Amino acid sequence: MMKIDVLTLFPEMMDSVLGESIIGRARAKGILNINFTNIRDYTKMSHGHVDDAPYGGGRGMVMAVQPIMSALEAVSQSGEKPFVVYMSPQGKVFNQNMAKELLEKEHLVFLCGHYEGIDERVIESAVDMELSVGDYVLTGGEIPAMAVIDCICRMVPGVLPEEEAFTEESHFDGLLEYPQYTRPEEIEGERVPDVLLSGHHKKIAEWRRKQQLYRTWKKRPDMLKNAPLSDKDKKYLLKYKGKRRGTAKFIEE
Ligand code: SAM
Repeated sequence: MMKIDVLTLFPEMMDSVLGESIIGRARAKGILNINFTNIRDYTKMSHGHVDDAPYGGGRGMVMAVQPIMSALEAVSQSGEKPFVVYMSPQGKVFNQNMAKELLEKEHLVFLCGHYEGIDERVIESAVDMELSVGDYVLTGGEIPAMAVIDCICRMVPGVLPEEEAFTEESHFDGLLEYPQYTRPEEIEGERVPDVLLSGHHKKIAEWRRKQQLYRTWKKRPDMLKNAPLSDKDKKYLLKYKGKRRGTAKFIEE
């Protein structure tokens, strides 16, 4: 089973968020093995400090090498060297394909920075990948790490009731998901598309594929460049070349 260790200054915060709902239930059942280690428990610095002022002057504090490396050593005791991910606004921006790649690792360690970040020598000597959740800066790596862990863990077999629960969602196959509806069939004149009530599985599948193509073209045309498209998909998309109108129902046929 894949093992995930998180090195953080706020283990309780993360344990509590990832102890709820789907991920929490999977952890309780033993399907997921996620552990949180408080970097502060490993410091040898005076007064339990884990950070110090930056060399060269400037604002804030920098997380020091020793506490992080000692915490990393403690979680690396058994088995092969873990794959170490440092959550950082300077990293590659996370996406579903990266989540699929990380899912293949046996042992992942997420390192969460705080304050002004961590001493560069940790990154040089121990980090395999820097990962960002977007081009903006947060106060710490905890929220980004939770987002990444959640995304990876929901693809672990057994976490969701069926595999389709994640393979049919936005981004998994390079497209956005089709629109979803639930009861009632009609609200203030707005009806659920007839095809979804038809019980005709082939027609529903075709309608959903077209909706995926249309929505991606409409909302995220940049994604179509890399999406694996069949000739039928491409032919269908040609219909929209040059058009910028319509709602989701526009393509209902
Ligand atoms: N001084 C750093 C810089 O300019 O690159 C930013 C430090 S940030 C205030 C503190 C910590 O939050 C970082 O060490 C990192 O772990 C985390 N963090 C902030 N923004 C992030 C993002 N977009 N993605 C991933 N981690 C982020």
